[in-house]
Amino acid sequence: MQQSNSSRMPAVFFGHGSPMNALDENAYTRAWRQIAAGMPKPKAILSISAHWYTRGTLVTAMESPRTIHDFGGFPQALFDIRYPAPGSPALASRVRELLAPVDVQPDHSWGLDHGTWSLLVKMFPDADVPVVQLSIDATRPNHFHVEMGQRLAPLRDEGVLIMASGDVVHNLRAMNRSGGAAPDWAERFNHAVRDCLLGGEVERLADYAQWGPDARLAVPTPEHFLPLLYILGTRRKGEPISIPVDGIELGSISMMSVAVGAPPPLSPGQRQAVAAADDQ
Ligand code: ZN
Repeated sequence: MQQSNSSRMPAVFFGHGSPMNALDENAYTRAWRQIAAGMPKPKAILSISAHWYTRGTLVTAMESPRTIHDFGGFPQALFDIRYPAPGSPALASRVRELLAPVDVQPDHSWGLDHGTWSLLVKMFPDADVPVVQLSIDATRPNHFHVEMGQRLAPLRDEGVLIMASGDVVHNLRAMNRSGGAAPDWAERFNHAVRDCLLGGEVERLADYAQWGPDARLAVPTPEHFLPLLYILGTRRKGEPISIPVDGIELGSISMMSVAVGAPPPLSPGQRQAVAAADDQ
């Protein structure tokens, strides 16, 4: 049985949705702020973003990561955002050590992409916590990403926030910018993920591709789903899983966030579901 450890950091997957969330204030961005406010201030942050999908695994190792504006067709105000958090070569080294024998290459050219900074501008607006990004190896099977999370789990006892950024439903072709109801397949898949998380069937999530036609529409490419598997991999036996915020925006983008560890304190009325830690 795993002893509870009050100093252990949570690990959190965020549905980041549109880059415009970096400028907007809405129920999701308010939840992101509250999630950050409800945890001990991290010594450093390790971010696994859907937007750094590579051959092999890389980790940012520079002292001062740049802010990457990896999108087009948005207002200038979004391109003007900078998130000047320092990097942490020491955390990059620790990550490489924990992930061995997986060969993780130190990277000096990437930085912080919008999967990371569109969340952090809300969570830690002072940009005073060092941030390192870990890429997602596109050549690996799904269980590899769960195992990577398992190997990274000790960081949670070292004051490091492990965060992951994607969207469990992410179909840009089906997007409806004028809003409106989400299609049935998007709602069904989002609910199926939710049921797995809250029903103690976390292992099934790595096999989402076998779930049939809804999965093919909800996850047409894997990169926005895979970050969730890292967070689930960091879970210690018996730890609760919570869904601090959920919803489908733009018809086909899930904004579900998933926390492992102590559930974030959210104000009444905010959507939150918590799975009992029934497998201790
Ligand atoms: Zn994205």
